[in-house]
Amino acid sequence: MTDVVVVEDEPDIGDLLALYLRREGWRVHLATTGADGLDAIRARRPDFVVLDVGLPGDLDGFDVCRELRQSSDVPVLFLTARDDEVDRILGLEMGADDYVTKPFSPREIVARIKAVLRRSRATDDATSGATFGSVLVDIGRREVSRGGEVIPVATQEFALLEVLVDNQGVVLSRRQLLDLAWGEDWIGDPRTVDVHVRQLRRKLGDDLPLVTVRGYGYRLG
Ligand code: CA
Repeated sequence: MTDVVVVEDEPDIGDLLALYLRREGWRVHLATTGADGLDAIRARRPDFVVLDVGLPGDLDGFDVCRELRQSSDVPVLFLTARDDEVDRILGLEMGADDYVTKPFSPREIVARIKAVLRRSRATDDATSGATFGSVLVDIGRREVSRGGEVIPVATQEFALLEVLVDNQGVVLSRRQLLDLAWGEDWIGDPRTVDVHVRQLRRKLGDDLPLVTVRGYGYRLG
């Protein structure tokens, strides 16, 4: 059974989330402070953690995540209320697997959790490819095809696509995409990512479930 710990101090939000997650047949433990959340995570060893950033008391969500990462790689989805929190999540390599900004729909949280769980459970069999609608991305052969017909994709476009496929369901900032697909020492305009994304969308069409996260970056799936 999938075990989820939700750390959220606002009762309305916590209860609503718990309701939706339990509907999925998941076991949910709700904690309302960072300290209680950490205790619950250590005791229950959940499959997933939903962590509000703004928590009362000594430990905020960032502290909890940092503490947690010393001994656990459990997937963490942050709930944030402010843009500057998003900046910190993306900028400081907090060890978050995803984040959602408030207000959010509980359904979105469920979908995100499922996406991250799918990905974390598939890490053992190294990604050899992925299918999107009629499009097949073959990582081993570095080839993209539709119905057996090879679609010409530039080397750097494929590198970007590979990073997106490897991180399905996760929001990646332009900077992260540049680091992963172009290399950390690459210097240039982050908008380069947009140019390549446009090419991929043009070539692969609606089959590619690539979502633009306004002001930040992209998410595949
Ligand atoms: Ca809060």
